[in-house]
Amino acid sequence: MNIHEYQAKQVLKGYGAPVAEGVAIMSVGEAETAAKSLPGPLYVVKSQIHAGGRGKGKFKELSPDAKGGVRLAKSIEEVVAHATDMLGNTLVTKQTGPEGKQVNRLYIEDGADIERELYLSILVDRTVGQVAFVVSTEGGMDIEQVAHDTPEKIITVAIAPEKGVTAADVAKLNEALALSGDAAKDGESLFPILYKAFVEKDMALLEVNPLIVMKDGRLRVLDAKVSFDGNALFRHDDIKALRDESEEDSKEIEASKWDLAYVALDGNIGCMVNGAGLAMATMDIIKLYGAEPANFCDVGGGAGKEKVAAAFKIITADPAVKGILVNIFGGIMKCDVIAEGVIAAVKEVGLTVPLVVRLEGTNVELGKKIINESGLNVISADDLDDAAKKIVAAVQG
Ligand code: ADP
Ligand code: MG
Repeated sequence: MNIHEYQAKQVLKGYGAPVAEGVAIMSVGEAETAAKSLPGPLYVVKSQIHAGGRGKGKFKELSPDAKGGVRLAKSIEEVVAHATDMLGNTLVTKQTGPEGKQVNRLYIEDGADIERELYLSILVDRTVGQVAFVVSTEGGMDIEQVAHDTPEKIITVAIAPEKGVTAADVAKLNEALALSGDAAKDGESLFPILYKAFVEKDMALLEVNPLIVMKDGRLRVLDAKVSFDGNALFRHDDIKALRDESEEDSKEIEASKWDLAYVALDGNIGCMVNGAGLAMATMDIIKLYGAEPANFCDVGGGAGKEKVAAAFKIITADPAVKGILVNIFGGIMKCDVIAEGVIAAVKEVGLTVPLVVRLEGTNVELGKKIINESGLNVISADDLDDAAKKIVAAVQG
């Protein structure tokens, strides 16, 4: 689950991280009061969407020369003018895709005097099986370019879980970020704070880009992008309360209600599969035969008829889906239950695109019989290869 920058900063502030003063607003009417509550004379008006690259983003409704989604303002009037420009409009960044995201919230923040922009993130590094800091002196809006052109400027420091952030780790991080004096002292307290927040709140990613050294030599968290491990949310009611469903894919929200592992993708073949491994293999084989999956969908090992029907409805509700491949191995799950779920869903929502069903495993004969006798226009397949070829042919045909 992702949250907005201002929420992430609130969480980090709770752990003692240095963040600027700021006020989140949802209407232009609130902009003036918000700005007046800040020290000034420099303000920053920041679009709050669940995507990065806002500074370099462009608003669809504004002229291409208009400023981006993060703007400096030197007066209260300018804050109000930027807020008027941005609220309600659609911001397109490298991370939003071409359709962009509507800006419904702004964060009005105290402007900082920036000396240097650094990059810092914390993530679970699967190659070493540890939480790791990833840092670079080359922070700011071009970090992707740095990663691509000069990867040696990006340094990873893995943290031993039984020790936490040690003095040696701090020294490594300070050196990697070329911090000295007050900034290095700030680093000494900041790195363990960020690590603690990451671990305690079950974050999946904490990205501070930029972390800045200010003209006065102190560190400040200037941007914060945080996502949480969805499987751990049950123990963080405070974090759950920060969810902004308007930022999420409506199909993914519906899927999470049913406890389905569903991720929307860009292709046109909807997939309904049980088991993450089989779902991955199904997506791979669709690609092998020259098409693209519209989603990843794992209904899980023990899904009942209702869950299968819910998954089917979510997949068919996507207008990009031009064909559906149901690929189920009935282990714990029985093929006849799957068949009944699919049929129940088709009867309810109709079927306007080709459907290929490949069943294998427990009660497979019964499952096939139910599908064949349903009167539905279903193409049955014998194995995964056959199924993939058939659905790709049906969609591209
Ligand atoms: P994004 O990464 O989505 O583009 P950031 O929050 O990183 O958004 O802002 C982009 C740039 O705007 C930063 O790299 C920094 O140069 C500037 N900026 C952001 N917040 C402030 C602030 N409070 N004071 C001064 N400059 C800021
Ligand atoms: Mg940033």
